[in-house]
Amino acid sequence: MRLRREMVRRMELTHQLSEANQKLERLTMLDGLTGVTNRRHFDKLMIKEWRRAQRNKFPISLIMIDIDYFKKYNDTYGHLKGDDCLKKVAKALISSARRSADFVSRYGGEEFAITLPALKNDATVTVAKRVRCEVERMKIYHEKSDINKYVTISLGVATIIPVMSMEHEVLIQAADRALYMAKNAGRNRVVATEYDYNASHNDYGNIDKC
Ligand code: GH3
Ligand code: MG
Ligand code: MG
Repeated sequence: MRLRREMVRRMELTHQLSEANQKLERLTMLDGLTGVTNRRHFDKLMIKEWRRAQRNKFPISLIMIDIDYFKKYNDTYGHLKGDDCLKKVAKALISSARRSADFVSRYGGEEFAITLPALKNDATVTVAKRVRCEVERMKIYHEKSDINKYVTISLGVATIIPVMSMEHEVLIQAADRALYMAKNAGRNRVVATEYDYNASHNDYGNIDKC
């Protein structure tokens, strides 16, 4: 009888330990502030999805997102309010990336990334436009922004059907370049590029009604 009780107790302990390990593993993947995938896990997931796209000859898309005039936001409202703003933006991104394969990551500081496996460029642009509107619609007051009364974001979109010899950094660089162009063109806008088409860029601006 005692032996049986001891066995049950040990089984329970093993189960608890495995649950705690799983929880810990989940925590190491997530950004502590916003709850989205952290940079380290982004790198891992991106490589996995990149390889899958290479094998299947499917497109893979990336949206790079940067909050506009965020330094001024921090300077005006303080770092804690800045943290709140980051949380709200992350929420808006999660609600806009709806397919289960899509994943939102905090790329660094006030930069986020959404990875969209097996999605063509025009469909990714639709998601990016939705994200831009979603953030604008939250109406997070930003009196020191040079371009709006509220917090806005700039978005760079890139899509590639990767051949076997390509490294995933190509996709990140392409999205980063599109983001840079969105910033230069006046911020609060979506700029997209398709790697196949001689790296030409389309500026979708911000004229859509949100
Ligand atoms: P731009 O429109 O060109 O993107 O200008 P910006 O001010 O957003 O860009 P800049 O790179 O000059 O500033 C980024 C700011 O983001 C500076 C930094 O204090 C802030 N930041 C980065 N990480 C965090 C964070 O975890 N919390 C808070 N509150 N602020 C952060
Ligand atoms: Mg930045
Ligand atoms: Mg910024």
